[in-house]
Amino acid sequence: MTASGLLFNIQKFSLHDGPGIRTVVFFKGCPLACKWCSNPESQRAKPCLFHDGGKSVPDSREYSLQETLDICLQDRPFYEESGGGVTLSGGEVLTQRRFAVDLLRALRRENIHCAIETSGCAPREVFDEVSGEADLLLFDIKHFDEGRHIEGTGAGMAPIIANLKSALSRGRETLPRLPVIPGYNDSPEDARGFAALLVSLGLKQAQLLPFHHFGEKKYDMLNIPYPMRGLPRLHPEDLEEFRGIIAGQGIDCFF
Ligand code: SF4
Repeated sequence: MTASGLLFNIQKFSLHDGPGIRTVVFFKGCPLACKWCSNPESQRAKPCLFHDGGKSVPDSREYSLQETLDICLQDRPFYEESGGGVTLSGGEVLTQRRFAVDLLRALRRENIHCAIETSGCAPREVFDEVSGEADLLLFDIKHFDEGRHIEGTGAGMAPIIANLKSALSRGRETLPRLPVIPGYNDSPEDARGFAALLVSLGLKQAQLLPFHHFGEKKYDMLNIPYPMRGLPRLHPEDLEEFRGIIAGQGIDCFF
């Protein structure tokens, strides 16, 4: 059993990361570098410092498996009441394979519903092992075009799509989630590109995640430039045409 995992947050009472009321466990480390990332501290796989008003505080710490499990189990009555559970997020949960697998197994032994939120960017055997332990995959798709994917995230999409196909072929319950970023993937043409990809994969649902600025202060506290500064945030009403194009292909597309 894994001794510990490097986490940068455990957030209770989340309503946006899977069904019902959930506890979200945020893993540190990510192979991508999305320009719009709202958790920039998540990208480095080792502890960093936040600088705020002359104070420096660690952005993360090691949690033992038992400690993490105990925190998650504190809210069992809320999960049972709401049909919720625990979501492993990040960063990228796949970067800490053993801790992720051990935590998912421990939670499922307690009959807790488990989701993972993932970019799918990992070697196939890692993806298959971790995703095989979750009840639900929240699978982010950043773009449908290889060149634009590299431009926005620093990585190609071939292994990501291959892993998504693997999950679907194994019958894993999967909800694709599309972060919609102004000037990057928010045009009607982009919506048609996403729709074509979703249809080609046989997917019937997609959740849109409109761009927001929630991570901006963290960039300042890490002393790194925020690439999206000054870009407008998006609201569901801004994306009705975008949503309608995807829905027009028979995909249940929602926010
Ligand atoms: S995949 Fe998620 S955590 Fe990783 S860089 Fe992109 S937005 Fe940030």
